[in-house]
Parts: sequence; structure tokens; C-alpha cells
Amino acid sequence: MHKAGNMSALKDLLRPMFTGLKLLFQKPYTIKYPYEEMPNLPETNYRYDPKASIAYPGYKGRHVLYMDKCTGCSLCDIACSYVSEAITMVYAFEVKLQFDERVYGMIKQGNPTAIEAIDTLAANISDINSEVYQKRGASHPLMCLLIDLKQVTKVENQYQLRFNADTIWEHSSDLLVERYLRGGLGELEGKGWSVELIEDKSPESVMYKIERDGLTFFLSISKSDFKLTNNKKSYFPQVDYGRCVFCGLCVDACPFYALEMSPDVELSALERPGLVYNPISLAPKKISTVQPSINPIDAFYGWFRRKIRWE
Ligand code: SF4
Ligand code: SF4
Repeated sequence: MHKAGNMSALKDLLRPMFTGLKLLFQKPYTIKYPYEEMPNLPETNYRYDPKASIAYPGYKGRHVLYMDKCTGCSLCDIACSYVSEAITMVYAFEVKLQFDERVYGMIKQGNPTAIEAIDTLAANISDINSEVYQKRGASHPLMCLLIDLKQVTKVENQYQLRFNADTIWEHSSDLLVERYLRGGLGELEGKGWSVELIEDKSPESVMYKIERDGLTFFLSISKSDFKLTNNKKSYFPQVDYGRCVFCGLCVDACPFYALEMSPDVELSALERPGLVYNPISLAPKKISTVQPSINPIDAFYGWFRRKIRWE
């Protein structure tokens, strides 16, 4: 009786070990995401043919924007505004500080007043950790001052210092000022500089005159022109994946075949602004998560699971 009990205990001990060993050589049902690619996603994009009124089946993941077909009509934005307001129509902006030859000479000589204007604006720019956005190809603007004087260019007797290292996508020029530059302009006024809005063509451009002690700077925020035949205003949709519910209504609303949804589902980001995809990052290419580092044991195990497994 006692011997039979021992055998039973031994069986109970060995059975799970055998089961575990057997499963080690079977095809796994799970994948080690993100180390392994996700299988079984459809290859085709979800798209809609407005002329034939037919929706073609496909996975509704990240949007694909064909900038050459987009007319900037905003119909996708309007459709989304009834769902989650994930789409914002945006322009691409450049921010430049302009000055004449005399001021340029003073900057080169390190004149404290001239340097103060540049430093104050730079110190107050709402800069956010840019590395994350660059890696993801996502849309948050990288605003940083290129104080390196080699970056100063001369255009028609005016010297220009470009403030943004990356294109800034924003709904309007005055919104850009409010979001990134208002703090710096306010501080300059506090230091005795006069700040005057001398040109207001918002949403496309605005210009400020900044002056003190005979030194004059012009801060210009102007729209970039992509010179596209179908989109003279260079006005495109941008998608916030923190809001999008992947319903596809924006694709259905586009009358110009400019918007589709792709099987790209790797949309996670480390910080909230990384979920906002600008028109360039919505281009028809796959954006995948940066491959995480993997230790040698996991690397071998991943290879083993893929290559030498029994069906
Ligand atoms: S798929 Fe996303 S962006 Fe398009 S309408 Fe739906 S919620 Fe808006
Ligand atoms: S994607 Fe389509 S609906 Fe949206 S702005 Fe461009 S053309 Fe219009």
C-alpha cells in the first residue's frame, strides 16, 4: 500500500515535467512580442472607393496618407469630429529670427543685449524630449535653437537664424506662438524689449518686431510650401492616436483616395506627444517599434522557437 502510494507520488511529480518537456518542442500558440513579428495580420490596407461606394476589407491600423492626392479639403477632420476629434488639419511651419548685418556683427562680437534677445527666446521655448519623437518618426516638433553661427543664412540683405531643427506641424501660426513662443516674448517685454505684432496673416504666417537700444530682430513664423498640384495650401491631416478609435470613418469620408488604414498596429509611445502622427509620419511606409535589446539567451530561444520547432 505504501509502495503504491510512492509510485503515485512519483507519477504526479514526473507528469508535469514530461508535459513541460513535450511542450518545449511543440509549436507555440503565443508570440514573444515585440521580439517576434505578429503573424496573421492581413496584408491589405482598409480603403474606400467613393465613386463605387465600396469599402475594401483590410486591417484598420495606422493611417496612410498620400500627400500628393490630399487636397486639404478637411472632410476627414469633419467626419472625425463626430467621433473622437483625433484629426487636426495642420500646416508645416518654420520659425526664423531675422536681423540686419549690423546686428549680425554684434552677435558675432558677443554683444550682451543682442545675445540676450536670442537666449531669452531660446530658454523659453517649450522643448520636449526630442529623442523619443525622432526615433518614432512621430510628429512632435523639435524646437531647438541653433546658436551655432554657421547656421545663419543670408537672404536679400537679411540674416536668418532658423529656430526649429525639425518642421513644426501646427493648426495655425498664432497657435504655434501661443504654444511655444509666448513665454519668451513675455520675458523679453519684462526685460524692456518692445514686442510688436507687425504682420498677422494667421493661420499661415505672423511676424513680430522685437526692439531695444537700437537693436531690431524680426521673429517670423511662416508656412512651408510643399508645391503640390492638388494641395496649393499645403494643408494636411494629422492624427492623434491617443484619441483615435480606429473606426475608419475618416477613410470613408475622403473623396480623393488620399487616406487608407494599414495593418501597422505598433503605435505605442513613451510619452503622450509621441502618439501624434504628422502628415510625414503618416506616409505610406511601415513604422515599426524600435527593436528592443535582447540578451543572448532570449535571442537563442527566439531563434529556436522559429526555426527548430516540431509542428
Ligand atoms: S479612424 Fe480615428 S481618425 Fe479616423 S474617424 Fe475614426 S477615430 Fe477619427
Ligand atoms: S485626406 Fe482626404 S478628406 Fe482628408 S483632407 Fe486630404 S483629401 Fe480631404
